[in-house]
Amino acid sequence: MLTNDQLAKWDREHFFHPSTHLGQFARGEAPQRIITGGEGATIVDRDGTRLLDGFAGLYCVNVGYGRAEIADAIAEQARELAYYHAYAGHGTEAAITLARMVMERAPDHMARVYFGLSGSDANETNIKLVWYYNNILGRPEKKKIISRWRGYHGSGLMTGSMTGLDLFHRKFDLPLAQVIHTEAPYFYRRPDTAMSEAAFTAHLVAELEALIAREGADTIAAFIGEPVLGTGGLVPPPAGYWEAVQEVLARHDILLIADEVVTGFGRLGSMFGSQHYGLKPDLITIAKGLTSAYAPLSGSIVSQRMWDVLARGTDENGVMGHGWTYSAHPIGAAAGVANLALIDRLGLVEAAGRVGAHLNTCMAEAVGDHPNVGEVRGEGMLCAVELVAERDPRRFFDASEGVGAKVVGAMLRHGVIARAMPQGDIIGLAPPFCLTVEEAERIAGVTARAITEVLG
Ligand code: PLP
Repeated sequence: MLTNDQLAKWDREHFFHPSTHLGQFARGEAPQRIITGGEGATIVDRDGTRLLDGFAGLYCVNVGYGRAEIADAIAEQARELAYYHAYAGHGTEAAITLARMVMERAPDHMARVYFGLSGSDANETNIKLVWYYNNILGRPEKKKIISRWRGYHGSGLMTGSMTGLDLFHRKFDLPLAQVIHTEAPYFYRRPDTAMSEAAFTAHLVAELEALIAREGADTIAAFIGEPVLGTGGLVPPPAGYWEAVQEVLARHDILLIADEVVTGFGRLGSMFGSQHYGLKPDLITIAKGLTSAYAPLSGSIVSQRMWDVLARGTDENGVMGHGWTYSAHPIGAAAGVANLALIDRLGLVEAAGRVGAHLNTCMAEAVGDHPNVGEVRGEGMLCAVELVAERDPRRFFDASEGVGAKVVGAMLRHGVIARAMPQGDIIGLAPPFCLTVEEAERIAGVTARAITEVLG
């Protein structure tokens, strides 16, 4: 048994952490937290400190921690058959059952689901499928991908390019040339605060049209977007946005990829964000909520229209050369089956909508009048508090002040985990769906206390 001190030392010496300030961490200047357990919406660290996890890990532990049903399903699968691949028509009962469960929940026009391991690799798969599709249709020039500034789609080469956040590009030679960005549908940060919501939507659509005209529709294959901007700030779209964007895409024969890694399986209080906002995507990316992160698994849900072309492509060209060793891993699939069954049994999609609405209401009441709170916004079990130096005229803090991170640090000292979103002073909350009404009220109270401590 390792002592805490040994663990802490080994962590600093050997572990290359993702999304971390490497130098500060190695030198012991950046914080370290070693997590040992969890139950419901609470996690426990190695010192026995209990923390209310207001971000469900990385908005992924949707059913909450400590679910024995999922742990048992994983153990049973590991004992019976830990692994077999899915190449060349091989399958397992878990993967086939999960495919069926996903397709029962997906919008009606979707046809098949391909399983990967992470949201990033699922989006890489999506781009390959889009390119393959256009090659089969004899349109080799139609390949560019439109993404939005502040979108988050992963941190691989194409996916990091599609991600529209500076941090994920800097010093990585990204974005790659095939990816072009359009304006974020972020009403609070609209260029002119005099703009109405309808005028802002019209402005975004005009920007999109102009980008398509500049690049040429015959060079653009797809548009990728999260139904609600996630890591870019937890921002629901302005009214009429998706309707108008879909009309433009259809007119230019541009495919729509709905990245539902965060919104899939209930976070908005609907099974998918696509149903929530009336989207008819050609591809849907799923990950996080598919297994509630009990095991890594992701997926690309493919529409009938794309599937028909992909199938024709293999008739003309032979086997599709795309797959990972761990595609449709049976342990991930078993976790997914147990997770989706649990979400149904406990009515967690409805709970996410109901308790999420309560969280948003309490938060608006607790912090909405503070002079440094520019906006409280959310949808379903997503809630964001945007901090500003001044409300009117709207003036943001200088990034170097790190105000958002300071407030999140103060919340942590009061036992609540929130996330300082990476671009702007935005306090992000995305708790597990099993959050209780009392826990929602505690999060709002702690947020208010922390803001007052940091900003007065
Ligand atoms: N897409 C969205 C919308 C995400 O929020 C994320 C991760 O946060 C990803 C893709 C990438 O998923 P992963 O981190 O599993 O690669």
